[in-house]
Amino acid sequence: MYNIFEAPFVKEMCEITAQMYRMGWDERNGGNISCRLDPQLVSQYLDLNDVKRVLPIGFDASEAKGQIFIVTGTGRYFRNVEKAPQDNMGIFRVAPCGNEIEVLWGFEGGGRPTSELPTHLLNHIERQKVDPENRVILHCHPANTLAMTFVHELDDKAFTKTLWRMITECIVVFPEGIGVLPWMVCGTLEIGIATAKKIHDYRAVIWGQHGIFGAGRDLDEAFGLVETIEKAAEIYIKIMNTPIKQSITDKELMAVCESFHLTPHEGWLDLE
Ligand SMILES: [Zn+2]
Repeated sequence: MYNIFEAPFVKEMCEITAQMYRMGWDERNGGNISCRLDPQLVSQYLDLNDVKRVLPIGFDASEAKGQIFIVTGTGRYFRNVEKAPQDNMGIFRVAPCGNEIEVLWGFEGGGRPTSELPTHLLNHIERQKVDPENRVILHCHPANTLAMTFVHELDDKAFTKTLWRMITECIVVFPEGIGVLPWMVCGTLEIGIATAKKIHDYRAVIWGQHGIFGAGRDLDEAFGLVETIEKAAEIYIKIMNTPIKQSITDKELMAVCESFHLTPHEGWLDLE
C-alpha cells in the first residue's frame, strides 16, 4: 500500500484549493470541490474494505452507489487544505442504499463533507449521463461573476451571449452556454436539484448573488472553465458603464465556431 499523502488525487486537490484561494475565489470556508476517483487507483493507497465511518446524507444518491469521491470538508478553509489534507477533505464511497456515505479516509477531528454535498452528488449523477468521463464538480465565489449577477438579467441565453462577446475564445470554451439560477438558499436539496437540472445541459451553472459551479473531466478542465467565465465577467464589469464603440457580432461568433468545428447552443446566435 502506497502513502495516501503521495497519491496524485490528494496532491492535486491540495494544489487546486491553494490556487483557488490565491485567486480570491474562496474566502474563509467558501467553495468546495468533489472529484470522482478510479477505485482501482484508490485501492493502491487505501483498503477499500476499511470503512472508518458511515454518514447519512439525507437524500437519495443511489445512482452514484459504489462511486468513490474526494471532497472538501464543511466549514473548512481552502487556505488550510495543503497544510492538513486529512482534516480538511476526505474520501468516501456512496453506500449501496444511496442515502449514506462510507468514509474511507480524512474528515479527521469529526469533520464531514461540504454542506453542498447534495448539489455535488446530484451534479455528478447528471453530468455522467451526458459525459461518462466527467469527474469533477467545483464551486467557488469569483467576485466579477458574482458582481455580474447583480446587474445582468439572469437568463441562460442573455447571460451567455454577453459573456461570449467579452472574449473571443469564450464560445470555444463553452459553446453550449452556461446556466443561471436566481438566488436560492444554499446547502439545500432544492438548490441541488435545480442545479443538476441545469448542469445536464451546461458544464457551468451560476448561482445568483452566490457563485459558480463548474464541471469537467479533470480539475484543469473545470478550473479553466470557471477561470474563463470569471475573466469574461471581469471585462463586462469594466466596460458595462462605458460607451461601446465595437463588439463581436453573432455572425463573427459563428465564424469562430466554424473555424474551431464547434456547434454553439442551437438557436442562440441571430444569423439573419
Ligand atoms: Zn458557496
